[in-house]
Parts: sequence; structure tokens; C-alpha cells
Amino acid sequence: MSHRHAFALALLLAMPAIDAAPVTPPLLDPELQRAHGTRPGATTLPATAVDTTELPNIALSAADAADSPLPYYEVAPGTFLLFGNVAISDPYNRGWNGNAGFVVSDEGVVVIDSLGTPKLGSRLIATVRSVTDRPITHLVITHNHPDHSYGAAAFRRLPGVTVIAHAGTLDYIDSEQAESSAAYRRELLGEDMAGFQWVTPDRLIGGERFSAQRIQSGKRRFDIYNVGRHHSFGDLVVHQVDDGILWVSDLAFNQRTTFMGDGHSPQVLEAQDWLARRFPDARLMIPGHGSAQTPPFPMLTRTHDYVQRLRQRMAAAVEAGQSLDEAVDAADFPDWRSERLYDLNHRANANFVYREQEDALF
Ligand SMILES: [Zn+2]
Repeated sequence: MSHRHAFALALLLAMPAIDAAPVTPPLLDPELQRAHGTRPGATTLPATAVDTTELPNIALSAADAADSPLPYYEVAPGTFLLFGNVAISDPYNRGWNGNAGFVVSDEGVVVIDSLGTPKLGSRLIATVRSVTDRPITHLVITHNHPDHSYGAAAFRRLPGVTVIAHAGTLDYIDSEQAESSAAYRRELLGEDMAGFQWVTPDRLIGGERFSAQRIQSGKRRFDIYNVGRHHSFGDLVVHQVDDGILWVSDLAFNQRTTFMGDGHSPQVLEAQDWLARRFPDARLMIPGHGSAQTPPFPMLTRTHDYVQRLRQRMAAAVEAGQSLDEAVDAADFPDWRSERLYDLNHRANANFVYREQEDALF
């Protein structure tokens, strides 16, 4: 891992420095930016992307070339993780606020998630190219949220790439939410969104919840599971069969507070329980946000506990006749306050779960 990491660092140092004059990001409250954004100018990378408590701070610039590679880690032989900023999407990270990765087989490359803009998608492709010249054969999009899927446009322009996504992606592409989310990224990130298009998957993963379809790249096998709509219009988990590696996407959050504004919280708990039962021998878990983890996967337990506790709290509030505002005000979890993105997401999460519980009761 270490020589790869040194190489990634060298690449990073070769990148153009961020503009010296600090710019006020459009649309973002400076307080919010300071608390939850990426620090401009500074790039710091943890020594490892597995089981670390450190966070990367990767400052990018609008002036960076679209073919400049991004820093990455080799977390297992042939398995590469782009450990992204644990932050809101902002002008200093250029929309890089989540993870992506790729796996190199003897015949080609399978990419998992595409990052948050067409430009980041291009830079992800350049990152793959800096490691191997084998062809990219598959892009698996774990769910449709922008930080995972808006880089797909860059992959669509590459010949020979099969794009695989959840069947719910088709509903998302037609939704108002998709339109407003793309408009927001265009306004925030400008030129980095150039060339954006909705990518219709070549292969859809649907059918029964927790069923899988297999793809093969050389000797490496991948089972791609439909894990329902727990967090979005449709969520996938990728199991790297021969390595015991699970790409769990946003089924577990590491080093930050979850986001619940989409999906179904009971399905989060069901899918987490299923995951733990189905893969008792998993060796590595790679989330959509935060570092990878080895057993016993504390991020899974921690995300599960958070969701369960919020559901119980909101169910009690609805039963007691508390209004939405009262319930959200009273839903503070003091022991979570120091967790990244807590004060940004927690109230919104409480709001979402209150409404779910209200619907369940009436
Ligand atoms: Zn995400």
C-alpha cells in the first residue's frame, strides 16, 4: 500500500495550487462552510484509509486539469479506494464529498461509483489510467445521489463501459428532486458540471430485495445486491466475492452522521441486519463516506443504533401527540454532537423520521 500512497501523494503535489485569494463560495453560509466544508488550500491525507480516525482534507480547484488523477489508496491487492472529503459539497472540494473505488482484474477494471461531477468522473478515469491500462468494463452506481452518480457522464463517453445501477434510477431521472439537485450543483460548481447528462443504465439491478446479479471481470467475481430503497430511489451493495470485500455504499456511514431525507428508515435497519447475517466472514467494508473498516465493523453498529434510536424517539413523540417542531427540538443526541455533519443533518433526519412515524401511526 505504501508505494501506491507515496505515488498518489506525488501526483497530488503536482496539481495546481488552489487560487491564493479566498473566494466566498456562492450559496453557502460561511459558518456552515467552516463547520462542514473542506478547508481551502490544504490537502492532508491520512496514512491509511482503513480503520483510521483521521479525515482527509482534499482541496481541489476549478483550475485543475480534467485529466489529473486524484489521490487513492490500495486497500487490498488490486482494490483501490478514493477516500473522499467527509464534508458538504463545496467550491473547495469541487463536489468531492464521498468515496468511489475500482478493482483491477487480469482482464479489466470495475469501477464502483463515479463521484459528484462529470469533471470528477473524468479525474476518476484518469486515476484508473494512472494505475493500469486495462479497459474499464463496468461502472456500478450504488445509488443515484449526486455525490455517487453525477460523474457517470464521463464514463458514458468511454466506449465499452457497461453502466449498472438500481432499477429505481429510472424513477429518479424523471423526478423533480433530480432536476433541482443537478441545478444546485451547476450553480455551486459551474464548469465542473459541463457535459452533465442523465445516464440511463445499461443493466438494471431490481427484482426481489436482497437478490443479486453476478458480473465477472477476469478471475474476479462481483455479486451486486438490490438492498431496497433504504436511502434513495434504489440502493446497491457490491460483494467482491473472492476477497470478502463489501462495498456497502450509504448503508453504513463512517466518521460522520448519516443523511435521511430519502428512502425508508425501517429498510435501513432491515438491510443492515441482512448484511451482518449474510456476510459473517466479510474481511473489509467500504462505505460511501468515511474510511474502510475491518471486522467487527463498528460503523455498521453505530449507524444502526443511531437510526433505531431516532425511530424510537420519534415514535414516542408522535404517540405522545408532540408536534413536529417540538419533537425535532427535543431530539438532540448530545453524545453525537461531536460527530461530523451532526448539526447539519440531525434535525433534518429527525424531521424525516417523525413524518415516517406519523404515516405509520395514522
Ligand atoms: Zn452518499
